[in-house]
Amino acid sequence: MVAVEKAEAPAPRRADPAPVEVRRYRTMRMLVTAYCTCEICCEKFSGAGRTSIGKNANVCDGVAADPKLLPYHTLLEIPSVGLREVDDTGGAMRQDAKRGIVHIDVRMASHSAARQWGVRWLEVKILK
Ligand SMILES: [Zn+2]
Repeated sequence: MVAVEKAEAPAPRRADPAPVEVRRYRTMRMLVTAYCTCEICCEKFSGAGRTSIGKNANVCDGVAADPKLLPYHTLLEIPSVGLREVDDTGGAMRQDAKRGIVHIDVRMASHSAARQWGVRWLEVKILK
């Protein structure tokens, strides 16, 4: 990852968003949602108990992202969450990436915790 000075994420409302180049930034404004391993959050994947890279999904130290934007094992520092490693993915993250939005999904211990988090736009640090 190349270290450059802070820069804003592309504005998602632009008519013709430029391709997102996450790796050029150290800090990015991201859409941050939360999920748990339940059927509501994970649908057909809920029974797997594993993230998309085979990690135990019940360990709440990971985050889902589009691995094309934020490769697996990328370390993020998320305000009021802390350090999280990209270890999972989801359709919503990949869909939003196509619209120029960097969307991450924080894995939480319970569905109520995930619901309580809601939807936030946060400045997220990309550490490595
Ligand atoms: Zn859930």
